Amino acid sequence: MATDGARGFAEISKPLAAKLAKLGVHNDADLILHLPLRYEDETQITLLADAPMGFPVQVEVEVFSTDIVFRPRRQLLSRVRDESGMIAVRLLNFYPSQQKQFAPGARLRLYGEIRDGYFGPEMVHPRAHAVVTDAPLAQALTPVYPTTAGLSQLVLRRLITTALARADAQGELRDTLPETLRAAHHLMPFNDAVRMLHLPPAALGPEALEQRNRDAWRRIRFDELLAQQISLRRAYAARRVRSAPPLAAPGPLCEKLLALLPFKLTGAQQRTWREIATDLAQPHPMQRLLQGDVGSGKTIIAALALLQAVENGWQGALMAPTEILAEQHWRKLSAWLAPLGIEVAWLAGSLRKAQKTAMLDALREGRAAIAVGTHALIEEAVDFARLGVAVVDEQQRFGVRQRLALRQKGGGGNNNSAVPHQLMMSATPIPRTLAMSYYADLDVSLLDELPPGRTPVLTKLVAESRRDQVVTRVRAACTAGRQIYWVCPLIEESETLQLKTALETYERLTAELPELRVGLVHSRLKNAEKATVMDGFIVGSVQVLVSTTVIEVGVDVPNASLMVIEHAERFGLSQLHQLRGRVGRGAAESACILLYAQPLGELARARLKIIFENHDGFEIARQDLHLRGPGEFVGARQSGLPLLRYADLEDAEMVEAARTAAEMLLHEQPDAAARHVERWLGGREELLKA
Ligand code: ADP
Ligand code: MG
Repeated sequence: MATDGARGFAEISKPLAAKLAKLGVHNDADLILHLPLRYEDETQITLLADAPMGFPVQVEVEVFSTDIVFRPRRQLLSRVRDESGMIAVRLLNFYPSQQKQFAPGARLRLYGEIRDGYFGPEMVHPRAHAVVTDAPLAQALTPVYPTTAGLSQLVLRRLITTALARADAQGELRDTLPETLRAAHHLMPFNDAVRMLHLPPAALGPEALEQRNRDAWRRIRFDELLAQQISLRRAYAARRVRSAPPLAAPGPLCEKLLALLPFKLTGAQQRTWREIATDLAQPHPMQRLLQGDVGSGKTIIAALALLQAVENGWQGALMAPTEILAEQHWRKLSAWLAPLGIEVAWLAGSLRKAQKTAMLDALREGRAAIAVGTHALIEEAVDFARLGVAVVDEQQRFGVRQRLALRQKGGGGNNNSAVPHQLMMSATPIPRTLAMSYYADLDVSLLDELPPGRTPVLTKLVAESRRDQVVTRVRAACTAGRQIYWVCPLIEESETLQLKTALETYERLTAELPELRVGLVHSRLKNAEKATVMDGFIVGSVQVLVSTTVIEVGVDVPNASLMVIEHAERFGLSQLHQLRGRVGRGAAESACILLYAQPLGELARARLKIIFENHDGFEIARQDLHLRGPGEFVGARQSGLPLLRYADLEDAEMVEAARTAAEMLLHEQPDAAARHVERWLGGREELLKA
């Protein structure tokens, strides 16, 4: 008997409970929401002669012969017949008990599909059971559930039926949605929906059955989205009751910075900055996601947010996922803020001990107003005196825990329970429906306008066999004074192999372009070496930068006008889009050449077509979502999130409806909202709060 408290099962053996746990089933409520994948129709017997090929049917047969044959491989081969004909049955892996079951003369009911096979019409691995004399046929469709090794459909079915009865008796199937809401969205009662799906009624004709089934699924999907929305809204509300330093509106320092910039903020930058500045003035922590396509100018917004902290006597921190990117931010911020008399502290793994100690002291004592760095910022030794604003760039590259860690650097020495405001930035555009359901607890600002003067990047798909022409083009561009990024093939499964490939690519290009200065950066390079090459590229002494994807994010060299990506078919679409965003930043005509290896699979072709045809990161993301499902977008966050099992995020209308309903329910019927979340997420809700 399982002992995991009131929510656990009663009267279930430990091994069984363990198997159920594998399915994510821990109690009656979970069982009830463990819904069938499909149904089998065992309500009728079809004559062999009438059975349509390739469709699941139930037949009742007598075994004529059974042999173990060895050609084309070892298997059990039976011939079975009914009054209308004869077919073969094959079991490729079989137990002695199955051999016995198929003894000549046995009467069996078989469920499966008949196809033309090696031995004529045949069923391979049908579900089989002996015919008990006069056993009635099933009255209704038989549900088939997702299951795990050693847990039979029959056992699952029984457990679920019992759980349904028990829950019903205890009033647990009561609706969590008020009548009015159900009516407004034409949703069937919860009780009816789960019964419909687990125990489809016998009496309905096929069409009525299908309609009821569709309605039931709609209710389930709505419920699932609603639970997610309520849960995220609650996390949001919980945050609103925590305190953060209210930072008064941007003042003279921000104005001075803006006056010194060589450009004017775009309309989108103005708007998002206002949204952020308003949040920062609140006494509870901002948690805002700033989304903007590559090159949309997020860094200046981050600088302004950090400066608002400084203006109010607080500190700011900016964390970036790679040292190259962090250092670039540090340089940029230093250049912008030095004229204001603000020094920016630099914290990275590569610092020498004495330097690091000095930095840590400056942060702890509050002498350093702004710090920029890598993960080094969240190491244990780091302590801020008064951290007011924490910015995380390329937030999707960090895990939930890392982002939390920066936030927790807040209180510092003055023992204050306030947490800093947090601004997360991302260039990986998240499709709207995904943002609504995975980031519903964040506020989102959108930089939907690129700074003026960008040249559109021409994208070309070129077969690997024409690599020579690409090299010629590289030579011509460099001769004309331009610079080139050359991205090595991605080898995800092995870092060693990735390194080898990078070196080979570098050597090959050096040999092919002896008159050009070629540089190489990869992740194993020591930071100082990396910095030398990057500096060379920034000042133009390196003409061709061969790199692994370390340049994927953030790097900004306006004179680079051509990017070549080898084995483009191996990259993710958002990765390709980000890479491509590295060029087209200056006045020169820019191009991105995607080299691909032939033959291209169908999916690879579809993906390259998306990147070829689209330049809007959101559109690319939307199509990518359609192609692949949500997995990759939510990144690290997903690991802490109960994935949607039934609902479809592409159903924007339903996501929207669930969102509205969540707010209404939380407002007007908080008890029902709580019950709803408990039913769907049980103990898992905590995971959402990170
Ligand atoms: P991202 O959003 O990809 O982080 P950055 O902040 O690196 O983009 O900005 C890309 C480039 O555009 C930088 O060189 C930056 O200085 C420049 N930039 C930012 N805002 C503007 C603007 N309003 N007008 C012109 N250039 C801008
Ligand atoms: Mg950036």
